[in-house]
Amino acid sequence: MRLSRYFLPTLKETPSEAQIASHRLMLRAGMIRQSSAGIYSWLPLGHRVLMKIQAIVEEEQDAMGAQQILMPTIQPADLWRVSGRYDAYGPEMLRIKDRHDRDMLYGPTNEEQVTEIFHDCVRSYKDLPKMLYHIQWKFRDEVRPRFGIMRGREFLMKDAYSFDLDMTEGRRSYNKFFISYLRTFARLGLKAIPMAADSGPIGGDMSHEFLVLAETGESEVACHRDLLEMDWSDKPIDYEADLQPLVDSFTAKYAATDEKRDAEQEAALGDDLVTARGIEVGHIFHFGTKYSVPFEANVTTSDGGEVAVSMGSYGIGVSRLVGAIIEAFHDDDGIIWPEVVAPFKVGLINLKVGDETCDGACEGIYNDLTEAGVEVLYDDRDIRAGGKFADMDLIGLPWQIIAGPRGLKNGMVELKSRATGEREEISLEAALSRMAE
Ligand code: ATP
Ligand code: MG
Repeated sequence: MRLSRYFLPTLKETPSEAQIASHRLMLRAGMIRQSSAGIYSWLPLGHRVLMKIQAIVEEEQDAMGAQQILMPTIQPADLWRVSGRYDAYGPEMLRIKDRHDRDMLYGPTNEEQVTEIFHDCVRSYKDLPKMLYHIQWKFRDEVRPRFGIMRGREFLMKDAYSFDLDMTEGRRSYNKFFISYLRTFARLGLKAIPMAADSGPIGGDMSHEFLVLAETGESEVACHRDLLEMDWSDKPIDYEADLQPLVDSFTAKYAATDEKRDAEQEAALGDDLVTARGIEVGHIFHFGTKYSVPFEANVTTSDGGEVAVSMGSYGIGVSRLVGAIIEAFHDDDGIIWPEVVAPFKVGLINLKVGDETCDGACEGIYNDLTEAGVEVLYDDRDIRAGGKFADMDLIGLPWQIIAGPRGLKNGMVELKSRATGEREEISLEAALSRMAE
């Protein structure tokens, strides 16, 4: 992509309404624009990152055996009357009427919708287990939308649902999601710590939130120091194996969010206790027959009986992750994207647009890299170098190739790593082969 043609409305000034780094940087880097409180448009640079995160989430969901569907954003209120949540949900739910005066709503989540689908389509225990997921915009009329897309009113969520014969089988599904979440967040470059969360009226231990530690996080959390060191993301996972021991190795260590914190256990940990703030990026929850009973989502059993299926739901805040990643990876100059979610891998800076040598060399680099499948953003604008450096640091592409007349005389360019700030002078060919690796 040529920057001269790219829609990248960067801002020099720090927007005064933005209180945290990720919000400031997303606005400054031209990733998003606010439409109304807590509702944003995603501009090209932001959209690319969002889609890369979505693709990784999809890969990991597919890998664990969940199947992708797409349910609507607008749901009939009658669905929610079945579960009793139409009245229970409160003012966070956006209620709408259609032209026939029917009550509709913009879905804040999809348990009711997916349970109805299951009820209509599945009859037998032989069809279990099933895991379905979708990635869809949600609306929650948050009291205090803030921090940009971190706590929006409209936001993109991956929500998955599991259907099992009983609680024992349900735990197997739960464990798959537990492990796949650890992998998903690790692939995104994040250390998300699973923490015991409030499991609601049915109780039990099958509710975990995944939190990324950050000073600007909204939750106050506490955990065992060891959890910060646990790193296993490269281990291959056999999802058909018994995952309980692996899950236990995490859950055996104390980790809890606000409402689940336990003063006694924390005191016993002594120096091993870490208290911090965290950003909730995921939440998994087994809720048994809460929805299958009212929806009569039953299956026949092998002995000729019938049971309501045991269900769980599993959310990932896809749009919130963009902010969480920026909170984890930035400096005073801007964003520092992990390569896997970077909007482009390389930023190519032409220091002297109009100079034949520079233009020729840059066109060559741009074409070669593009042909090699490397995503390049080529700054071909005729502006002063300082502005180019500042913009490139701001938008945080992992690599910068800086091409100027002096170096090019000897066939050399500068290669800069955004993360380390290191610059090295290397030959054009070396730069190309390093980036195409
Ligand atoms: P929170 O406690 O942050 O309000 P929640 O517990 O209400 O979130 P869930 O219903 O568990 O949210 O939703 C699953 C995931 O969706 C959350 O873990 C979070 O990452 C994301 N999410 C929830 N609400 C928002 C929001 N208002 N803006 C952006 N992402 C959100
Ligand atoms: Mg939650």
